[in-house]
Amino acid sequence: MRYYSTNKQAPDATLEEAVVKGLASDKGLFMPYEIKTLPLSFYEEIDRMSFQEMAYRVADAFFGEDVPAGVLKQIVYDTLSFDVPAVQVKDNIYSLELFHGPTLAFKDVGARFMARLLGYFIRKEGKKQVNVLVATSGDTGSAVANGFLGVEGIHVYVLYPKGKVSEIQEKQFTTLGQNITALEVDGTFDDCQALVKNAFMDKGLNGHMLLTSANSINVARFLPQAFYYFYAYAQLKRQGKSENLVVCVPSGNFGNITAGLFGKRMGLPVKRFIAANNRNDIFYQYLKTGEYNPRPSVATIANAMDVGDPSNFARIIDLYKGSHEAICADISGAAYTDEQIRETVKRAYEETGYLLDPHGACGYRALEEGLKPGETGIFLETAHPAKFLQTVESIIGREVAIPEKLQAFMRGTKQSMLMSRDFASFKDYLMNE
Ligand SMILES: *Cc1c(COP(=O)(O)O)cnc(C)c1O
Repeated sequence: MRYYSTNKQAPDATLEEAVVKGLASDKGLFMPYEIKTLPLSFYEEIDRMSFQEMAYRVADAFFGEDVPAGVLKQIVYDTLSFDVPAVQVKDNIYSLELFHGPTLAFKDVGARFMARLLGYFIRKEGKKQVNVLVATSGDTGSAVANGFLGVEGIHVYVLYPKGKVSEIQEKQFTTLGQNITALEVDGTFDDCQALVKNAFMDKGLNGHMLLTSANSINVARFLPQAFYYFYAYAQLKRQGKSENLVVCVPSGNFGNITAGLFGKRMGLPVKRFIAANNRNDIFYQYLKTGEYNPRPSVATIANAMDVGDPSNFARIIDLYKGSHEAICADISGAAYTDEQIRETVKRAYEETGYLLDPHGACGYRALEEGLKPGETGIFLETAHPAKFLQTVESIIGREVAIPEKLQAFMRGTKQSMLMSRDFASFKDYLMNE
């Protein structure tokens, strides 16, 4: 399969080039030339397949031309080593729990898949080592570090701002060892990002070592997110609840929901999508006005959605050929303040006993407010509530049990390298690695 850039000013790329480069040379996002529809027979038998079986069929449609069947199957089966259950919260509202992976957030799926696909390309080309640089303000670092942990031929450097990530987040990428190095930068998240950007542009460094990013815009992180939409549908079909299905996605950079829109193009019978925002409602405003006005993000309690210029907006525009009308036919929006998010977490807990995290709460509320008669809604519960412990505990006024997986990270010993925010010393460090 060939990939083009959403900016249409860069040469086409192979899958391997798109995965290794991440971003096209014209700063556009890679898009596959073809989105294959899966046959009707697939949808008829989908409720009798395992998650891994159906995900392999989806993966085959995108990557089957470029990756041998046995290898691709192994990558999919290794990636999906955990379940993604659809849990009924009330009446016609279900939660798709994407938090059963290693770091208890949905980014695990994309990160694990990308690590394994990149690992395959490295082995195939006989390259000795690829170095992944990732700047994080918290959650991306943990998903990428854990996704790439132990994958041969890849070394990951996680750059994070000293004293600006929570203890639990920090433990999730500083306690791993092996092929993961945590660099604690004396600066802000923006300084970390600047170091990574400068490294990618530095000729000397790129001549010395093979560098790549594991950014969420990478096709190998983005496309596998389509898998769980199929599984959501299959689980509801098993219960006879898949008619008029509405999928609601708490959205920040819009990678997750865009993967769902790809699923719909492949024939997945989703009636419509809802994109739920926090106060960073740039996309919601676009739906209302037809105008896209990015602006600086504001901090909220659903902080993984604090995005002021969602990167994957370019993919949505491309997918719908720029038609605002077509986009509005498939997607509606919602946006909530911190106060509304708090109120929703509290009320849902009191009414149903189900504990939402602040991101999932936006999704749940958008379904409560937006479902029409005869529709069934499922929202993506994108992280475990215990990842936002203080926030959630202060809302419901009681202690939240910490899952064993998170406790295990807490028990680990932090190992990190202190780094100044000055590029010369970062470069010097990498050159001598
Ligand atoms: C990353 C993230 C989101 C937003 O997903 P996008 O693909 O960026 O829209 C929502 N919730 C949680 C918990 C996340 O980590």
